[in-house]
Amino acid sequence: MSLYRDEGVVLRTQKLGEADRIITILTKRTGKVRGVAKGIRRTTSRFGARLEPFTHVDLQLHAGRSLDVITQAETLHPYGQAIVRDYARYTAGMAMLETADRLAAAEKEPALRLFLLLVGGLRTLAEGAHEPRLVLDAFLLRSLAVAGYAPALTACARCGGEAVQAFAIAAGGAVCGACRPPGAAVPAPGTLELMNALLRGDWATADGSEPRQRSECSGFVARYLQWHLEHGIRSLRHVERDWPLRRAEPDAAPAYGAHG
Ligand SMILES: [Zn+2]
Repeated sequence: MSLYRDEGVVLRTQKLGEADRIITILTKRTGKVRGVAKGIRRTTSRFGARLEPFTHVDLQLHAGRSLDVITQAETLHPYGQAIVRDYARYTAGMAMLETADRLAAAEKEPALRLFLLLVGGLRTLAEGAHEPRLVLDAFLLRSLAVAGYAPALTACARCGGEAVQAFAIAAGGAVCGACRPPGAAVPAPGTLELMNALLRGDWATADGSEPRQRSECSGFVARYLQWHLEHGIRSLRHVERDWPLRRAEPDAAPAYGAHG
């Protein structure tokens, strides 16, 4: 298959030479692909803004020895337009792209469920119907579940008992009083229910949650994800180390449509 078609979401871009970029894309059928977009940094480029982060594109690529070459790109959904206008959406969206990039560690290894979660998450973020932080946490929890790391939330991660009291990241999530390791955080009432609602896609419950539960949920999800990325995935796959999860500053990435 020297020439192939796929659809995907642009995760990130890097400059290459004088006028080109390497575009990292999570595709529907092929998995993560790195493709060269030749001449994309010229003002006359036929690619325009179609290969910016967050864009859902239909692609034609020519398979190369190391990098594939993107020969055509058509926009399916320009999610970035609605995401980069709002700082909370933008930071949530960047964390989603970076997490997808990390979880799809190996190139050209199909990751259909992760792709579908990412497209659904970006669409929800762009629509603005739910708080961006909740959309991000729902995506992170579901991505962890797809990767086989769903946290225990309704029963103890160690003994299966239902009287959960604390959240212990290394133990695998919620734990009961008897299994609780020293230092495990005790969540506010409703926080574990919020996490479970986000994991299941129960937006009525999630939207009705309180600020304290949301911030506690975000803290648990971020630390749980970080722990699994460091302990579970880095040891198995080749992963870049300079990954700025949730440290994205507004100036750290180019504005939508900007080249340079
Ligand atoms: Zn237990």
